[in-house]
Amino acid sequence: MTKKLHPQTLAIRGGKEETQYREHNQALFMTSSFMWESAAHAADLFSKKVKGFTYTRTANPTTAAFEKRLAQLEGAERAVATSSGMSAIQAAFFTFLQAGDHIVSGRGLFGTTAGFIDTVVRKFGIEVSYVSTTDIGEWQAAIRPNTKLFFLETPSNPLGEVADLRALADLAHRHGALLAVDNSLMSPYGQRPLEQGADISVQSATKALDGHGRVAGGVLAGSEALMAQVAVYCNSCGLAISPFNSWELLSGIETLSLRMEKQFAQALAVAQWLQTQPQVKAVYYSGLPEHPQRELVERQQNGGGIVIGFELEDQAAAWKVIDSVEVFSRTANLGDVRSTITHPWTTTHARMSPEDKLAAGITQGLVRLSVGLEVVEDLIDDLKQAFA
Ligand SMILES: *Cc1c(COP(=O)(O)O)cnc(C)c1O
Repeated sequence: MTKKLHPQTLAIRGGKEETQYREHNQALFMTSSFMWESAAHAADLFSKKVKGFTYTRTANPTTAAFEKRLAQLEGAERAVATSSGMSAIQAAFFTFLQAGDHIVSGRGLFGTTAGFIDTVVRKFGIEVSYVSTTDIGEWQAAIRPNTKLFFLETPSNPLGEVADLRALADLAHRHGALLAVDNSLMSPYGQRPLEQGADISVQSATKALDGHGRVAGGVLAGSEALMAQVAVYCNSCGLAISPFNSWELLSGIETLSLRMEKQFAQALAVAQWLQTQPQVKAVYYSGLPEHPQRELVERQQNGGGIVIGFELEDQAAAWKVIDSVEVFSRTANLGDVRSTITHPWTTTHARMSPEDKLAAGITQGLVRLSVGLEVVEDLIDDLKQAFA
């Protein structure tokens, strides 16, 4: 075929590791090692003179298929899968950093990522500056001669503030630093950071890529040169994903665009309904037509994603709604086909001091939703009865 296929077609059709049995679906290779035809064949495999598999910590055919298809979706030369989103973030940091280096990170981070930076990364003699995710001037001012990495999430969770990736990439590259973006909440359907100039797109596959709340996984995408280094790091540290999880994630990404298209549309409908409710003081969703950064959102994102933040009067009002829902699940998972509801102040952001939470825009009345695939009228009716 001469016509270039769309990424989503390649996520279904591309990157298959097929055996002599000509199985239609990608086979699950649940084996820790692979045999060699001869001593010479083994030597050729280990010296990379011939391509093949040796050991699942290093590479596995099912995982290789997942990596190839995810690379297609992210518009990357190569992707490397890991055991969880956190191991992918660890690899994004430690493959490229050493003691004495400095990183600049957006302040609005997933809680465990912030904990990882503050307790693990700093312990290895790496300096960290936190800045406002959206204020390019703060990023610029934070740069030091030893700055090696910019790291952020955009849009921020759950306030939906959007960082200009193109501007951040230019700034990072002018100072010899890499730009890594956590793309867990948007998925490659909603945003392709590499096309905006980022060097690494890292994500928790546990979220939208799986989409069904079944398995943990992580994945990094970028150039062949960077990902080759990441693969060596992951092999050395034993961060490999289980082939079973890769196999589940393969079926997850086959329906990714279908799920995300519908879930993004439903999230917009829920956000717009929330705007009409007198109890709701503010709605945060980057897909709203009146979002203050609308032009940037349209240039950088394909929709607003699945996460909505909205503010009620106080914690009592927030807890009352959370305790009254019957369809939404009270759990922190995001990107699932099941809609979820949480109170960031006392759960995902509980480890932060009250002052830090308020500085990050997390108030006691804030509620976070992840919108799933249930019929949207049922979701709105559920919130309606919980508000009443
Ligand atoms: C869940 C999440 C992670 C961590 O991923 P795990 O698969 O749970 O390790 C990292 N970043 C973001 C934005 C997340 O939502």
